[in-house]
Formats: sequence, C-alpha cells, structure tokens
Amino acid sequence: MTVTDTPASAPATAAIRIERMNKWYGAFHVLRDIDLTVRTGERIVIAGPSGSGKSTLIRCINRLEEHQSGRIVVDGTELTNDLRNIDKVRSEVGMVFQHFNLFPHLTVLENCTLAPIWVRRTPRREAEESAMHFLRQVRIPDQAHKYPGQLSGGQQQRVAIARSLCMRPRIMLFDEPTSALDPEMIKEVLDTMIELAEGGMTMLCVTHEMGFAQAVADRVIFMDQGQIVEENVPEAFFNNPKSERTRLFLSQIL
Ligand code: ADP
Ligand code: MG
Repeated sequence: MTVTDTPASAPATAAIRIERMNKWYGAFHVLRDIDLTVRTGERIVIAGPSGSGKSTLIRCINRLEEHQSGRIVVDGTELTNDLRNIDKVRSEVGMVFQHFNLFPHLTVLENCTLAPIWVRRTPRREAEESAMHFLRQVRIPDQAHKYPGQLSGGQQQRVAIARSLCMRPRIMLFDEPTSALDPEMIKEVLDTMIELAEGGMTMLCVTHEMGFAQAVADRVIFMDQGQIVEENVPEAFFNNPKSERTRLFLSQIL
C-alpha cells in the first residue's frame, strides 16, 4: 500500500493490536497484561532475558499458543477459538524460527512450494515461479534443487524466510532467527531481514542482534518476567534506558 491509498485523516492501520493480554501455562502466569500495538509497516524488536516470555508472546500472535484473557487482533481479525479466524491469521502471518524447521526430505524448492500448492491451491508451475522469485530475493536461487542438509545454516535460514514469503504474508514474526547460526552466517540472514524491512514488511523480531535493532527497528520492546518493562525508539533504548532491569540487561549483552 502506498501512502496515497490512505486519506490523510485516516488513522494508521494497526497490523497487530494486543490489549491487556494474559497467558498462563498451567498455574504459571507467563504473560502479564500485555499491551502492544504494531502499525502496518512498523518494525519492532523484542529483547529480554531468557525465559521472559518473548517466544510465548509472538507464538500467541499466530495462535501457536492460546491466551486466556484480553484481546489479540491481527489485521482486523480477532483471535478467538474460531478456527476460521486462526486459519485466516496464519495465512497472513509468516513465522521464522531459531531452528529453521525445514522439511529435510524435500528440496529447497519443494519446501517453498508445499504450502502454496496444498494450502493455497496455487498451480504448481505458478508456485514454482513464485518460489524462485523469493529464492532470488534471499540470494540462493542456485540452491533450489538441493536438500536442506546440503546447505549451510545461514542458507537454510534464508530458505525458511523465502518459504514464509511464498505465502505472501502481511506480517512476519522472527524468533531468534540467528541465534543457532555460526557467527559468519549471522550477517547474511540479518541482511536478508534488513532488505525485507526496507521493502516495508511489518516485522516483529525477537533478537539480541542490537546492530539490527539500531539499523531497522522503529521501536525496541524490552520484556522481563512476562511483562513489557520498557519500549522506546532504538536510540533512546540503548543510550538512555528508563528502567534498571533494562540497564542490567544491556550491560550483559553489549
Ligand atoms: P523466552 O522466549 O523469552 O526465552 P519463553 O516464552 O520461551 O521465553 O518462556 C517463558 C517462560 O514460560 C519460561 O519460564 C518457560 O520455561 C515457560 N514455558 C515456555 N513454554 C512452556 C510450555 N509449553 N509449558 C510450560 N512452561 C513453558
Ligand atoms: Mg524464546
């Protein structure tokens, strides 16, 4: 969507709206009163110590996890137990995990065309053309006929990103996409993510790559013990953190 599509008076669309959302794992209160609005085209980085609920939060956004109270509205669709809503949201939200999660017995191209063919009913030929388009975008079209096991970790993660893009998502969620990679492969994945951000994709990224946060994030959100403790533009977040917990965290990772 270009700027001219929206009348100047219209409020910016919320891609994701979370209001007073709570989640428990059994008796364990893992997410507490989460309020978060992500505008269309916005890039958010979520940081915070291990166990603070970052993965759980983004998994709630495409209903890989269920919340128990409050609201989550994704692109206008409220997440409830209605399976049609869940399907709709999953088709609009792509997710990239730490451990790639590619199908090892399928080629790169087949990994990318599987869901478009079987879920979207896209004709094979068209799905393959689209897959090649996105494999070129992540700069590995030459690997299309290899199996994931023949690729480096960085290449596999770029396939995972291309595979998500093949479903034409409106929002992309990343859960520590570089933390399983050897250092020399981190940059190629981050570069792919930066290009995606520059293309206007709405992105929510759990990552501790603070260079990435500073390069592309509109806001950084810091979580601790199931709460959003602080959110700010990167510059202020890094140079002038408001809370003691953020300060402590930054002193450990920077
Ligand atoms: P983060 O991604 O910030 O490391 P998680 O969202 O993975 O945090 O986990 C938050 C807390 O919830 C942790 O204490 C974790 O042990 C717990 N947890 C995560 N998944 C489950 C689960 N399926 N069942 C019970 N507890 C869980
Ligand atoms: Mg996690």
